[in-house]
Amino acid sequence: MQTLDTLDTKGKRVLVRVDYNVPIKDGVIQDDTRIQASLPTIKRLLADGASVVLMSHLGRPKGGPNPKYSLYPVAMRLSELLGQSVRFFGSLPSSGETLQAVQALRPGEVALIENVRFEPGEENNNAELNAKLARLGDAFVLDAFGSAHRAHSSVSGVAGLLPHAGGLLLEAEVTALGKLLRDPAKPYVVIIGGAKVSDKLKVIENLLPVVDRMLIGGGMAYTFVKAQGGQIGKSIHEDDFLDKARELLAKYAGKIVLPTDTLVGDAFSNEANTRVVPTNAVPGDWEGMDIGPDSQRAFVAALQGAKTVFWNGPMGVFEFGKFAGGTNAVAKGVADLGSGAYTVIGGGDSVSAINKSGQAGRVSFVSTGGGASLELLEGKTLPGVEAMA
Ligand code: AMP
Repeated sequence: MQTLDTLDTKGKRVLVRVDYNVPIKDGVIQDDTRIQASLPTIKRLLADGASVVLMSHLGRPKGGPNPKYSLYPVAMRLSELLGQSVRFFGSLPSSGETLQAVQALRPGEVALIENVRFEPGEENNNAELNAKLARLGDAFVLDAFGSAHRAHSSVSGVAGLLPHAGGLLLEAEVTALGKLLRDPAKPYVVIIGGAKVSDKLKVIENLLPVVDRMLIGGGMAYTFVKAQGGQIGKSIHEDDFLDKARELLAKYAGKIVLPTDTLVGDAFSNEANTRVVPTNAVPGDWEGMDIGPDSQRAFVAALQGAKTVFWNGPMGVFEFGKFAGGTNAVAKGVADLGSGAYTVIGGGDSVSAINKSGQAGRVSFVSTGGGASLELLEGKTLPGVEAMA
């Protein structure tokens, strides 16, 4: 991958694809982690005497301008974080107005253009759009790790038309996650949670041969428990994956650790009545909402002595405070390993969980990419990273 060390940016107008797909509610940004993560590259380019044109997508506006998905609030927040005014150009990214506005930028200035998904060609890597976007810069930097698994115009399309390099965030992510695949220090423990086996099966299959232990929690655990013949009541599960779960349990018998007890609720709600029951004996009308206290202790114990840890996916329905205990215990368990282990948190919900639990500063690396980090760990080459060769 080309890096900023090899790209000539002095006095140039540099088009930077960032990932500003942040949660916004009523115009207020709920979590600015991704904006913060873009600062090192922007500052580095400014220090090199460049002007910076930032572009990103936000949400899924379905190919047309929609004020609900405007990046304007991001420009305001970025100005505060950067400590300098960020210009916002609200015309379509491919328009003559945007081109004129960016051409007037002086070295040291920063601008953010409007949501690139307002362009119908963005998601199909349209050649005409690629050419129009390429006019916005003399060079292109990809720093949107969270979008690097998409072969879109603003990610890989434009890269073919301009001198290019991966930004500091992209470089840091690829290096940090790469260590989880190539020669990780042992013992190596992976914790996987979240709703569905199907979403993470490829990661599970790619990592199982390399890890020493894989702790499986969250909704996906019930498919494995059902596959073993357990009674899981109304817990979330995928019958189509029972055979696969059985195959993995047989092949990696000593490695897969499942929760032995579960906190069940009589409704999918924070007001539900709760009980702790064995994971394989959930009463008919109840559903597993979180790992139970014995499993919390067992999962934390299984982490002890680990030299490499990767965690993706909550242990329960952590959005409801009543069912966040397992996720918080795992967050604390990972963070408590301190500098003795290389600890990586990957993916959207585990990142919110570790942020909520206040432990984010105590782990080695928190990935900004959900889908992108999972695809990398599936062993795939990401189109964005490939385009930076
Ligand atoms: P993912 O995006 O695959 O990491 O899944 C995250 C989602 O899984 C969160 O919204 C959780 O509420 C959900 N989840 C975790 N555990 C359970 C469970 N036991 N039952 C239903 N949903 C769950």
